[in-house]
Amino acid sequence: MAEFVEFEDIMCSGCQVKMQLGRADFTYLGHNFHTEVMRCPKCGAVYIPQELAEGKIADAETALEDK
Ligand SMILES: [Zn+2]
Repeated sequence: MAEFVEFEDIMCSGCQVKMQLGRADFTYLGHNFHTEVMRCPKCGAVYIPQELAEGKIADAETALEDK
């Protein structure tokens, strides 16, 4: 996932450890889908980039509503 390379050095502000890329599952309107997000291996906090929160999720909502 080349687009996530720039997020490699994100630190968890609480634990001071590097966040790692991992899969996160979502359920929306009864549909299950997943995406790759940065999350803290220690406390499990998830970092969702602004463009992901406002872009991909919104696109997914739109696609589901069109059906
Ligand atoms: Zn943490």
